[in-house]
Amino acid sequence: MIEFQQVYKSYGRGIDTLADVNFGIAAGEFVFVSGPSGAGKSTLLKLISGLDVPTRGTILVNGQNVGKLPGRARPYFRRAVGTILQDVHLLQDRNAFENVLFPLIVTGHSRSAAEKRARAAIDKVGLANKDKLRPQELSGGDQQRLAIARAIVNRPALLIVDEPTANLDRDSAQRIADVFRDFNQVGVTTVIATHDESLIDDYAHRVLHIEGGRLTDLGARTPRASRS
Ligand code: ADP
Ligand code: ADP
Repeated sequence: MIEFQQVYKSYGRGIDTLADVNFGIAAGEFVFVSGPSGAGKSTLLKLISGLDVPTRGTILVNGQNVGKLPGRARPYFRRAVGTILQDVHLLQDRNAFENVLFPLIVTGHSRSAAEKRARAAIDKVGLANKDKLRPQELSGGDQQRLAIARAIVNRPALLIVDEPTANLDRDSAQRIADVFRDFNQVGVTTVIATHDESLIDDYAHRVLHIEGGRLTDLGARTPRASRS
């Protein structure tokens, strides 16, 4: 599903933010991207999502060469990838339900079909009884749930998530991670960047570690003693 071949990314000044990055992620995998702050995790995710292009190298996602997508193909590609970045751009003057509905209306769904789908997405993330609240009335964990609902409402086969548990306490963080695990269990390929080692330890999944722009495949990690 994702293939990186000798990928480099530089923002100029002769510094490689990512250097010689090679890895593959198969359909259905659940992968963590770990590494300290500033390591290049967000940069990696933006390259997968087509929000940025590599300086050198080849990136294939869903069989498409992301660095070479023609401009008109980009919106379609972007819709097939559910992306949740760190600054959750929720519409503050709309309630939770409308925030999820909006991307569907924009993509031309009929009002009734869009409402049905939005309802299903809100239910799936556990926000059914908070759908009338505005983002600022929701807790941090619930805002993250809302961002997830909005990202999955177009039914992407691939979810790209940047630091979903930043600013959440441990309990909330695990509940958010559980939401992603549930999507993965129904077949959604999931890539989550986090510097939260304890979160990674709680889930038995493959870890790609980035440090100083270099990526190392650490393979599958054994979970810590199972939690209740
Ligand atoms: P992480 O997500 O692991 O914290 P980032 O990918 O955000 O790391 O950043 C990696 C490095 O790339 C940092 O040194 C950061 O300053 C730099 N960087 C990221 N985005 C840009 C940008 N748009 N312009 C210039 N430098 C950037
Ligand atoms: P916060 O992260 O802001 O502290 P919580 O994580 O405590 O908030 O709870 C967020 C919301 O998610 C609550 O409304 C709670 O009812 C709901 N919730 C908690 N666990 C689950 C779950 N397993 N499935 C669905 N919804 C849940």
